[in-house]
Amino acid sequence: MPQCGVIHLPGFSLENSTRMHNRQFRARTHGLKVLITGGAGFIGSATIRHLIGQTAAHVVNVDSLTYAGNLESLADAASSDRYAFEHADICDKKRIAQILRTHQPDAIMHLAAESHVDRSIDGPEAFLQTNVVGTGRLLQVATEYWRALPAERRAAFRFLHISTDEVFGDLAADGEPFCETTAYAPSSPYAATKAASDHLVRAWGRTYKLPVLITNCSNNYGPYQFPEKLIPHMILNALSGKPLPVYGDGRQIRDWLYVEDHARALWTVLTRGRVGETYNIGGCNEQRNIDVVRTICALLQRHAPPSPERRYEDLITYVTDRPGHDSRYAINAGKIERELGWKPAETFETGLAKTVTWYLENRRWWQRVLDGSYRLVRIGTSAVS
Ligand code: NAD
Repeated sequence: MPQCGVIHLPGFSLENSTRMHNRQFRARTHGLKVLITGGAGFIGSATIRHLIGQTAAHVVNVDSLTYAGNLESLADAASSDRYAFEHADICDKKRIAQILRTHQPDAIMHLAAESHVDRSIDGPEAFLQTNVVGTGRLLQVATEYWRALPAERRAAFRFLHISTDEVFGDLAADGEPFCETTAYAPSSPYAATKAASDHLVRAWGRTYKLPVLITNCSNNYGPYQFPEKLIPHMILNALSGKPLPVYGDGRQIRDWLYVEDHARALWTVLTRGRVGETYNIGGCNEQRNIDVVRTICALLQRHAPPSPERRYEDLITYVTDRPGHDSRYAINAGKIERELGWKPAETFETGLAKTVTWYLENRRWWQRVLDGSYRLVRIGTSAVS
């Protein structure tokens, strides 16, 4: 039986060489230059705000600005002289190679992806392109760049790939939470393309000895999340008096993590994680979707009460379930807690209260998002029509 928390990639000597590399890497984290792909997205922008606000790192944000990319999420960080933006597609090898040569990063955090399950059902092509082809191309140019570095910088270099717990697939109600050795069994096109990208990263670690790390995280929520995802979608629909569409019976369980806790975990893994390792990240906050929606309604009822005769909860509407919908995800985050000392700071109650308050206080941000291409239209049902 595989044991949680003890996996490492074959081909790496994890003892002496990694310990030495980690020492060198830690010594160099002051002023470290990190290239972040997908930095204009939800988690990427939280990671950049964390790095610029809480560390001395320099950041190069590489983003192609799809519908999900929004530079307004980086307004404060962008004024720092430790921040640079490059408008580029990770599938464009020539351009990424040129960006690497120009900026000379010490590490790459790879977050760029197509990330919405419903969109992957209606249009998997973009997911195949960015998540699989894009990750494969990024690995190729990153490896070329890394090989040409002077020995000390090459030893200290890191490639951190950010992935999801959805690669593990559907978890039975009484199943043990996913650990780092859980077998992959992705259900949606999104999850399958992320699983493929994880395999590519592991292969590059094993075959080319690129110093890779992988994280698999549970569902994130928090400020600046694009309103197609469950929590902001419900908040904004409720505020507009629109139905709150709950898929199926609403009993699907997700393990929710506040995005700032995730950003801190990613920095921890980048600077202190062992090369070749995978770390699961989760909030230890399993919630049924219907309970999440009810809690949002209760928070809004308190902080933004509608007219006295109306209750947000009355807007809850059960709709056809998502095709292939996984019933449960849950993460065992014991390894990152034990080995790297990371723990989430927010409970679901504190994190959700902060999130609802943020959306109430930042109407301009989301109103401008809604003015764009996405208008809270239901997608992701094409597989059942
Ligand atoms: P997001 O959709 O909000 O942002 C993705 C970003 O990537 C956008 O800024 C977009 O413009 C950019 N991008 C897309 N294709 C690109 C390309 N070809 N080249 C360059 N940039 C491109 O996603 P997110 O929710 O911030 O997720 C970030 C990463 O974390 C993803 O890899 C996702 O799989 C993973 N993840 C997300 C969650 C979650 O709950 N959101 C949980 C676990 C893991």
